[in-house]
Amino acid sequence: MVSNLPLFLDGEFVESKSKKTLEVTNPLSQEILCHVPCATKKEIDQAVSSASNAFLTWKETPPPERARLMMAYQALLKEHQEELAEILSQENGKTLEDAKGDVWRGIEVVEQAANIPTLLMGETLENVAREIDSYSYTQPLGVCAGITPFNFPAMIPLWMFPLAIACGNTFILKPSEQDPMTPNRLAELFVEAGAPKGILQVIHGDKEQVDHILTHPEIKAISFVGSVPVGQHVYKTGTENLKRVQAFAGAKNHMVVMPDADKQRTVENLVGASVGAAGQRCMAISVAIFVGQSKEWIEDLKEEMKKVVPGPWNSPTSGFGPLISKAAKERVLSLIETGKSEANCILDGSDYEVKEFPDGNWIGPTLFTDVPTESSIYKTEIFGPVLLTMNVDTLEEAISLVNSNPYGNGTSIFTASGRTARKYRHEVEVGQVGINIPIPVPLPFFSFTGWKGSFYGDLHAYGKQAVRFYTETKTVTERWFQGEDSEGANLTIKLE
Ligand code: NAD
Repeated sequence: MVSNLPLFLDGEFVESKSKKTLEVTNPLSQEILCHVPCATKKEIDQAVSSASNAFLTWKETPPPERARLMMAYQALLKEHQEELAEILSQENGKTLEDAKGDVWRGIEVVEQAANIPTLLMGETLENVAREIDSYSYTQPLGVCAGITPFNFPAMIPLWMFPLAIACGNTFILKPSEQDPMTPNRLAELFVEAGAPKGILQVIHGDKEQVDHILTHPEIKAISFVGSVPVGQHVYKTGTENLKRVQAFAGAKNHMVVMPDADKQRTVENLVGASVGAAGQRCMAISVAIFVGQSKEWIEDLKEEMKKVVPGPWNSPTSGFGPLISKAAKERVLSLIETGKSEANCILDGSDYEVKEFPDGNWIGPTLFTDVPTESSIYKTEIFGPVLLTMNVDTLEEAISLVNSNPYGNGTSIFTASGRTARKYRHEVEVGQVGINIPIPVPLPFFSFTGWKGSFYGDLHAYGKQAVRFYTETKTVTERWFQGEDSEGANLTIKLE
């Protein structure tokens, strides 16, 4: 019998009272793995109220103690990395190796959270005026919430709750309804690591549950990662309700290929970055811009892409897995079909099949050339194993093309010239730049810094920016009188 996934409320894994559930399916076979409940308003209110209560003690817990919880959690996650990756692969479809990477990049953020005492330290200055000193503290906000997408069910929840909680907040996580088993396991391991009751709550559902979070008066800050329209909705509704919001959204990431680059390495990197994880990465390269004679490498690219074999998560020969759902596959197929009338499709993965898994959401590697900027395949985030190529004559044209795109999540340039690379990284209007690195996702001592239409907000995910996002700064100005003589009323605002 297929079970209902529990909610994690007030320190307990409990069955939801909701009558509405959604199916979580294995993308290889459509087998139903579990049902995920759409939490009731009452359950969400209960989660928020439990998190508010827990905040009263958690905010007073010394940062070194909070850091020790993160150390224990990091060790447990490492111990369970393989098991987590297997759960993740089954519900998401990505290959086991890729799933292990998903878990690992989350563990790295937990390691960052274990450094929280240093990250929370304020600033001090003596004698800001005569015998007056100033110093600042960072203090937590209260109850924070996170809404996460399907494509990184371990890494993205781990971008959020460990740092928010290490800062002294309590947290409500609403994971993607498409692969919620991994986040539930993350919560179980958090309890096993010693997390006190109430500091993390997991509620499940979709739009209705998100909207209740966005308008709940006791929730102070929202972290969101997902698609552009939902990101805009979350940012607008959250800020309208006077919350702090950071919303990471979709992308169209370009790789610029210079003719002086190492051909074989460029082609191989381009293949991995475009079709890896079936192209379902917000930092996937979806457009390659060939500058000058490098366009002659497109045939080699096609041959290299043909070698990638999609298949089940547990086969070592699988290059990538099926798409997350039948609906996602239909959407991508329809974009490929439209693309055929807009550009040249020189490799078409639309009819790809895997014999042992005839019901899998398969699409094979797909390659378009001569793609015009006004085409719908260029303007839309396809989120499938589809790479578009364009040709330009100069680096300046490539920069102008990338800068005209409304998104600004990631980009990369492959070149042997330091001068070219410097010009590109300086002039490109994109938040994360790789130089001979195709997917430049920063490690957590930096922050994940998408720009333009790929991000709504001010302070980014993880690193120092996330610590600022999840805290308030309190600045103290202090003086101690000496002697008997008063100086009289100071009628100005000057301190001397
Ligand atoms: P999605 O926007 O469909 O869902 C994200 C979350 O929002 C889920 O928890 C979902 O339940 C909820 N949601 C869905 N529709 C909603 C609605 N109408 N109102 C309120 N909440 C709603 O995204 P997805 O398909 O799960 O993820 C893929 C998208 O995420 C891609 O666009 C990808 O680029 C983006 N993404 C961005 C980043 C980044 O860092 N910029 C990282 C990963 C994924």
